[in-house]
Amino acid sequence: MKKLLFDPKILKRHPCFSAEAHHKFGRIHLPVAPFCNIKCGYCDRKYNCVNESRPGVSSIVVSPEEAINRVREIFDRGQNISVIGVAGPGDPLANNSTFEFFEKVKKEFPEVILCLSTNGLYLHEKLPLLKEYGIKTITITINAVKEETAQKIYSWVSYGGKIYRGKEASEILLSNQWRGFREASKEGFFIKINTVLIPSVNEEEIPAIAELAGSIGATVMNIIPLIPQADFKHLQRPSHKMLNSLREHCSQYISQITHCKHCRADAYGVLGDDRDIELELLNARIGE
Ligand code: SF4
Ligand code: SF4
Repeated sequence: MKKLLFDPKILKRHPCFSAEAHHKFGRIHLPVAPFCNIKCGYCDRKYNCVNESRPGVSSIVVSPEEAINRVREIFDRGQNISVIGVAGPGDPLANNSTFEFFEKVKKEFPEVILCLSTNGLYLHEKLPLLKEYGIKTITITINAVKEETAQKIYSWVSYGGKIYRGKEASEILLSNQWRGFREASKEGFFIKINTVLIPSVNEEEIPAIAELAGSIGATVMNIIPLIPQADFKHLQRPSHKMLNSLREHCSQYISQITHCKHCRADAYGVLGDDRDIELELLNARIGE
């Protein structure tokens, strides 16, 4: 049976895990993690991890010190923020700055839910650290179960000081993603699976991802429509019909999120609210 490491009531305050919470509570993403350890075909590497964000817009990267200052500013403004997350612009687990920042937040704002999103490559190795820093909710982006499909999505993986390509890269990434997910679930973390719907590449595999994710114990799944760019710029953006029918089909295996707004790695505020602005705009607003 799954261990309950944390009180499930925290999900009622997490806007990304609960549709009910998403109008009431805000979250802040601090862009403290510039480096990434893989290359997804849909990523154009302009400073935002597509896994949790709206791509193609350049944004700032801040140091852990700048980030904690920004958190203080936002709380001073009385925002109803329940979650502080790191979602990029690269992979949070590939950056020590992520943990330097979480350490500061944990000390100063112990009541806030700490969250991060990752491609999962380092997840099993970093789980002890995530527990130490008090992270409770994790998003893992998983786009495939089959190595042949993963090979069409990822062009390289950097692991253990070496760059892997082709079959080897896909095998390492898939094995680590699913291993990290299983171990995190056993440890009691609340897990959201993000899957980018890439027409003609992984659309037929998404039900299998949902079924496996549900059986392992993910809390929710967020199927994100591809924004055609980078290696996939020639593909069509999925239609609403395709997206809705996949979500409906997958809901038999795992609850589906439908309120996602493609948050950027530096998003801030209540989702869908006009306060859901990027941190780079924050300073300008503070001066208003
Ligand atoms: Fe880009 Fe994120 Fe994929 Fe890294 S994990 S390549 S930052 S989309
Ligand atoms: Fe929500 Fe993902 Fe940000 Fe966590 S990392 S607060 S789940 S958007």
